Amino acid sequence: MSTDFDVVIIGSGPAGVSAAFPLVEAGLRVLMLDGGKQASAPRPAENFIQERATQDDQWQWMVGEHFHPLQMRDALSPKLRVPGHAHVFDGFREGNRIDTDRFVALGSLAPGGLSNAWGCGVARLTGAELDDYPCDPDELASSYQRVARRIGISGPASDELSDYFALDGWGQREIPLDTIHAAMQRKYLARRDGLAAEGFRMGRFRLAALSEDRGERLGCNQSGNCLFGCERRSLYSATEDLLLLKRFDNFHHAELVVEDLEQQGQGWLVRGTQPRDGSPGAFRAGQVYLAAGTIASTRLALNALQLAAPVRMLSCPTAAFILWLPTFLGAHRTNAFGSAQLAFVQKLREDVTALGSTFSTTGLPMSEFARHLPLRRRYAVDFLRALMSSCVVGNMFLPGHLSDNQAMLTPDGSLRITGGHHGDVADLLKLAASRLRRAYARLGAFMLPTSFTPGPPGGDIHYAGSLPMRSQPVRGQTDADGQLHGLSGLYVVDGASLPSLSEKSHTLTIMANADRIANAAVRRMQRQPIQRVFHD
Ligand SMILES: Cc1cc2nc3c(=O)[nH]c(=O)nc-3n(C[C@H](O)[C@H](O)[C@H](O)COP(=O)(O)OP(=O)(O)OC[C@H]3O[C@@H](n4cnc5c(N)ncnc54)[C@H](O)[C@@H]3O)c2cc1C
Repeated sequence: MSTDFDVVIIGSGPAGVSAAFPLVEAGLRVLMLDGGKQASAPRPAENFIQERATQDDQWQWMVGEHFHPLQMRDALSPKLRVPGHAHVFDGFREGNRIDTDRFVALGSLAPGGLSNAWGCGVARLTGAELDDYPCDPDELASSYQRVARRIGISGPASDELSDYFALDGWGQREIPLDTIHAAMQRKYLARRDGLAAEGFRMGRFRLAALSEDRGERLGCNQSGNCLFGCERRSLYSATEDLLLLKRFDNFHHAELVVEDLEQQGQGWLVRGTQPRDGSPGAFRAGQVYLAAGTIASTRLALNALQLAAPVRMLSCPTAAFILWLPTFLGAHRTNAFGSAQLAFVQKLREDVTALGSTFSTTGLPMSEFARHLPLRRRYAVDFLRALMSSCVVGNMFLPGHLSDNQAMLTPDGSLRITGGHHGDVADLLKLAASRLRRAYARLGAFMLPTSFTPGPPGGDIHYAGSLPMRSQPVRGQTDADGQLHGLSGLYVVDGASLPSLSEKSHTLTIMANADRIANAAVRRMQRQPIQRVFHD
């Protein structure tokens, strides 16, 4: 099969759809390719607690027919163990020929990519954090605004972390906190000066989740089903944007697992296999935008460059923990928003800040946490059953510059990723654990002994920076417009092109950067129209 387009975008995740809008709106013929798997597992229809108590088939969406949660042992996030998300992660490594050593390489081959399972936490980089970016900060600021308005963000108009998240001008009101988080917030407000002196600040996590109805997406009803797929579409997923893009006549979408790219004259040939039957497929275009997610895009780019030298891959060191609030022991369980509620920011060192958040346990499967406890599984489950209604679960990210991963194209065309953290990460995590233990104790929340669990390199999917944008790029890097040095017409619009990776949730930055790159390309094309290099 061979069809001609102005632009082929590889990947329909947050990066791909963000790059697509400016190109499609400018009238270009755009083809978006992705791996193509759709959800198949059943999802809850009622609220989480109700379903757990009354539905005979609840085990199916909790553990799945193939006991998916028990098999996914790779990373810390409970979302990886939800059977309804199996299609999001399935086949990614094999499809993209990824081989790893001490690195959890999670990615997606599904329409909408990892945003089918993400936590919806959003943040914006501030001036100092954009120092490494070779592009115009005002252009990025406009892109942040466009993307934030498109996806819909909720969170308060001002609180302790307004300056940190820097998004409040564009937000809907916050989704209500559950009773445990509301109590923690009240205690925090009474003690904030002392905690601030110790470098600990707390506020509402900013989320790409609606609190109020907006068009076909409805505001959160706190059913607790967040982890299993929001039945009201309150949580943003790139599949929402894919639906909007499909309304344009000049936008096309096809299933193809892309294997390689070849420059042909002034255009590109994109080759791969159809996910349904494995048959070969190929498309031609004047330009190609890589949005297959950091890991897959890195392999495709290094392959197109035939670059065998290793490149760095940034990833955020992470940890998870459980907090117990004794005053809530035996409290009645009610449904609550199931994603991050309160965020904390903890300064650990001049160059190291930690961002973390806490989740209600009412919408989480318990099996995930039982394995973190130093008890035999049976006793751990009993213990958690007794305690869970008085617990919240926390996670934490450190900046990506503390990672030491390398990615390298092997002679057979696979991407080999080797993971590692800087030597000081273990001590930083210990420091974070002890400071968090102290700070939360002042809020009446006690970290369960040994529950603080560091993640393996790559374990929480915050990857970036393997093909970094530079003002003076060399081979294996991209320029300020996202174009891969030495390969005209090949752009990188996902996390691979970010020059740095802070502790902040980075997807909104990926999206803003993709929007910026595509808008800049449209402006260039308006000055010098794109050549239709292939004709029917
Ligand atoms: C459990 C979990 C929680 C997360 N929480 C957060 C959070 O709270 N905040 C945050 O900022 N980020 C979070 N993330 C990360 C976030 O999901 C990613 O940063 C984001 O989805 C990256 O977008 P992307 O478009 O670059 O890549 P992806 O979302 O990975 O999309 C890649 C796309 O490329 C396609 N693709 C891949 N390979 C090929 C190929 N060879 N051929 C064709 N198509 C291909 C896929 O089908 C998919 O459509 C989380 C991720 C997970 C899994």
